[in-house]
Amino acid sequence: MNLVLMGLPGAGKGTQAERIVEHYSIPHISTGDMFRAAIKDGTDLGLKAKSFMDQGELVPDEVTVGIVKERLAKPDCENGFLLDGFPRTIAQAEQLESILQELRRPLSHVIHIDVDKSQLMERLTGRRICKVCGATYHKVFNPPEVEGICDRCGGELYQRADDAEETVKNRLEVNVKQMQPLLDFYKERNLLDSINGEQDIQDVFGDVQQLLGGSR
Ligand SMILES: [Zn+2]
Repeated sequence: MNLVLMGLPGAGKGTQAERIVEHYSIPHISTGDMFRAAIKDGTDLGLKAKSFMDQGELVPDEVTVGIVKERLAKPDCENGFLLDGFPRTIAQAEQLESILQELRRPLSHVIHIDVDKSQLMERLTGRRICKVCGATYHKVFNPPEVEGICDRCGGELYQRADDAEETVKNRLEVNVKQMQPLLDFYKERNLLDSINGEQDIQDVFGDVQQLLGGSR
């Protein structure tokens, strides 16, 4: 069961990733974790990546892809893996394809947690934080008893600049632009499975299970 998981910010990708790796006992391979591990282990590629990051530069594709390759070749990926946050570009998707061919571990599914943009806007702009104690609320999903006031300490609630409408809208647009070509790429290869992410977390996972089967 060799999987790639995709979804826009706020679609609930992290939650589904946790459930999938637990239920199917496969490793969760996120780019961030992979970089941290390679750097910690001091592999050649890890050190290369670190030197770029230390200079505040983007890690070039060849290094990233090399790190992905090393990770996917490890024995714990024999029964499958869940890639999260990679690939991000068509070039990376093509390289991933050839790595997996070489390793004889072709992708089984690309799971896309699909949530409409207006729904994502609601999810991502609704967060409110207490100025005094830092407690977090959500206008729709976890509202305080009195609007604008912290239940816990009576402090005033505010919206972080990151969660402001314009910022979120831009972030989503950037992500859509990045993801859409990948969805098309995998659709062409008959690997893309879109799951309705506008349901309860449990029901989303139910659909994932229906797609993947009960066990690995
Ligand atoms: Zn508070």
